[in-house]
Amino acid sequence: MNNDMNALAVKYGTPLYVYDFDYIENRYTTLKDAFAGKKSMINYAVKANSNLSVIQHLANMGAGADCVSIGEVRRAMDAGVDKYKIIFSGVGKRDDEIREALEKDILLINLESEAEMKRVEMVAKELNKEARISIRVNPNIDPQTHPYISTGLNENKFGVEIAMAKRMYIYANKSEFLNPVGIHFHIGSQLTKLDPIKEACVIVADLVRSLRAIKIDIKFFDVGGGIGVVYSDEVTISATDYAQAIFEATKGLDVTLLCEPGRYMVANAGAFFTSVLYEKVNDGKRFVIVDGAMNDLLRPSLYNAYHKIEAVNVEGEKTSADVVGPVCESGDFFGKGVQLPSLKHNDLLIIHSAGAYGFTMASNYNTRAKAAEVALEAGEDRLIRARETYEDQVRLELAYLK
Ligand SMILES: *Cc1c(COP(=O)(O)O)cnc(C)c1O
Repeated sequence: MNNDMNALAVKYGTPLYVYDFDYIENRYTTLKDAFAGKKSMINYAVKANSNLSVIQHLANMGAGADCVSIGEVRRAMDAGVDKYKIIFSGVGKRDDEIREALEKDILLINLESEAEMKRVEMVAKELNKEARISIRVNPNIDPQTHPYISTGLNENKFGVEIAMAKRMYIYANKSEFLNPVGIHFHIGSQLTKLDPIKEACVIVADLVRSLRAIKIDIKFFDVGGGIGVVYSDEVTISATDYAQAIFEATKGLDVTLLCEPGRYMVANAGAFFTSVLYEKVNDGKRFVIVDGAMNDLLRPSLYNAYHKIEAVNVEGEKTSADVVGPVCESGDFFGKGVQLPSLKHNDLLIIHSAGAYGFTMASNYNTRAKAAEVALEAGEDRLIRARETYEDQVRLELAYLK
């Protein structure tokens, strides 16, 4: 981030989210280039950062979208994502969401259970449409050998087992209102090892071959998201190694390769700017109290996630401090034992790697207004979401005052 950070903080106020759009472009082209020579589509996982300008930026480069609610589907379409590049995933979809997705004629509805397949079939029948579907398969990768945050195990709520998936494909293939054209898996987030992804690809590619043997032709092979990023000193997966592993596993299959990166695209494009309110010492322990809080950036509180924190343009000897927000919860912190110089009122702190699962997880807890969002692109800065006001927050309640 080369722009003058103090000037941005003064211009837009804090707390503030700032996203580097050039970085996002670089990430997109790096991944897209890694898939060069094969039919592929990058379906950005909108939940990571769903600001319309962020989605539009990716859509302008040709990205599709992976959505987990009809609200996200609407965002994708408002931002200009082509409808044939939109996937609707998620473990539970309401009938009205299914209906709208079918009416909007998006690329795929991704099914996560047999019961959901029956609902989609029913809604499609009502509309007299054929629903293009994919099924989320659970490759059941052993977590003992691959210690990472997993969603690809049979014991969790996502997807269906291989045998069930096969039965569902056979059913869907016979249905007048279902068209099974895709297969999907997503084994977890912040993956830093390639082996589990490779293994999952091999398992799912085998399933595609056995479906082909019974004349069920899968056209879209969706490997999900989950590519990890560097928050501190992680060694992550390179885009080329990732694509090569997928090519290897799907060799001989005539499919379009889909992937759904969220964090990879935006995590390190973003920073959260927060100003120091004051310092205090409790029983010998140093606290830096800032104007941002867990309602703005929940990851430290929710996952005990690490975010690098730096003071901008402040010199001096560093000592250990907990960086905390004003919210009435002990879990309201951004970092513990952070080495920081002595800070005074209005000094600026930058919380790095905040572009993914930052603003999208924000809430109004403690009637705190959501932060503003700013884009940096080609040396220019621009507001992409105004700071919320008190009036924005109470609008839907004021009408009911007696
Ligand atoms: C959350 C999610 C993603 C994106 O995950 P990242 O770790 O941000 O890449 C992709 N696909 C599905 C189905 C998801 O649930």
